[in-house]
Amino acid sequence: MGDSESFVIVGAGMAGAKGAEALRDQGFDGRITLLGDESHRPYERPPLSKEYLMGSAEFDAAYVHPENWYADNRVDLRLDTKVRRIDRSLRHVELTDGTQLEFDKLMLATGARPRSIPVPGHDAEGVLHLRQVGDSDRIKQALAGIENLVVVGAGWIGLEVASAARQAGVGVTVVETAELPLLRVLGREVAEVFAALHRDQGVSFRFTTAVDEILAPSGKVTGVRLTDGLEIDAQAVLIAVGVDPDVDLATESKLRVSNGVLVDATLRSGDPNIVAAGDVANAFHPVLGKQIRVEHWANALNQPAVAVSSMLGGDITYSELPYFFTDQYDLGMEYLGHVDPDEYDEVLFRGNVEAREFIAFWLSEGKVLAGMNVNIWDVTDQIKTLITSGTTVDREALQDPNVPLNEHIAR
Ligand SMILES: Cc1cc2nc3c(=O)[nH]c(=O)nc-3n(C[C@H](O)[C@H](O)[C@H](O)COP(=O)(O)OP(=O)(O)OC[C@H]3O[C@@H](n4cnc5c(N)ncnc54)[C@H](O)[C@@H]3O)c2cc1C
Repeated sequence: MGDSESFVIVGAGMAGAKGAEALRDQGFDGRITLLGDESHRPYERPPLSKEYLMGSAEFDAAYVHPENWYADNRVDLRLDTKVRRIDRSLRHVELTDGTQLEFDKLMLATGARPRSIPVPGHDAEGVLHLRQVGDSDRIKQALAGIENLVVVGAGWIGLEVASAARQAGVGVTVVETAELPLLRVLGREVAEVFAALHRDQGVSFRFTTAVDEILAPSGKVTGVRLTDGLEIDAQAVLIAVGVDPDVDLATESKLRVSNGVLVDATLRSGDPNIVAAGDVANAFHPVLGKQIRVEHWANALNQPAVAVSSMLGGDITYSELPYFFTDQYDLGMEYLGHVDPDEYDEVLFRGNVEAREFIAFWLSEGKVLAGMNVNIWDVTDQIKTLITSGTTVDREALQDPNVPLNEHIAR
């Protein structure tokens, strides 16, 4: 491994920071440049909609590495630095100030950015998004001074902010085009659990409708009008309708892009000198047997080590199952696996759904595809074994909390 080689990482979020760490861990001794367009050194985003937003944790706790880590590890971290384009044939990146930086290998870790909604009033004062720490600060500030918040989109971020807002004493209406929250990711059975959780905490839902206009007669949000004509008063509106992978650089440099940068199971793009990891990567998953793009923390944590191995000439593949967690009110949960809405034929519950202490399993033809443990802990490894073993399970045993998960479950 030549110490004269120069590796560049674009995007200084979780995946970028872990990429730099993995390069040193795996023995790369050359130059590492980590370029990020935010002002903060790499930090984790989950607290932005949870403990940091609620004021129970300091931002310092979210940093991926201590400040001196970058210098100590000879990582040239450049903040407030945006890459404008990649020249793949000359192997350099160009910054917005015109500076060119050569690379031997490049990691794309540009993440994702929140979608907007194309309705009148979408840019009024009081319309909020959540991706960066500054967004979380703005929401926190808003929650301290308003009576009612409208959340557009009942996905993870919308629901987590709804939870924080209710705990701050703010009235919350969640507007969602589907019939239930999280319906596309969880299916009806478990989506009902999240709907009940939020209703119990006083959240109002408006399902199967959308925002027609954000009302802001003098430039400041006063409410929303829905497509069904209903008007809801609110002094702030959070748009939480999902994210798009940040593929600008990849598209412009003609890498293969389709819902993210298309990479193989080793996280290499079509260009052997360029890998991608984290929210921006749409990778072939060898266990699931298909391309998937995962927008979760654990993926941004673990993929970079594989991408780095590929940068260094290795051939290992990324085969971790998607893993996700959330905290809302007193509900904490972990989800392992991946199921598209038309892929499962039943959901089985183990434990007490009413008390919100249970494990849900998504099955297809008697095999477990995914599992979610709600307020039950230390079962991820057992759920993982159930999924990866591909065994046909005994349905009764699976649903019986008295039968240990690691025994007698196979039929
Ligand atoms: C509020 C919030 C809560 C979340 N909660 C959870 C959770 O509870 N559980 C969970 O599993 N996941 C959660 N996630 C998702 C998780 O945070 C993401 O999966 C993770 O941040 C992805 O990391 P990344 O490094 O791939 O991308 P990002 O974190 O998006 O980092 C990419 C970085 O690249 C920068 N960048 C982009 N283009 C350029 C360019 N041209 N030049 C320079 N820099 C550029 C971006 O500005 C950004 O700083 C949450 C996300 C958010 C926003």
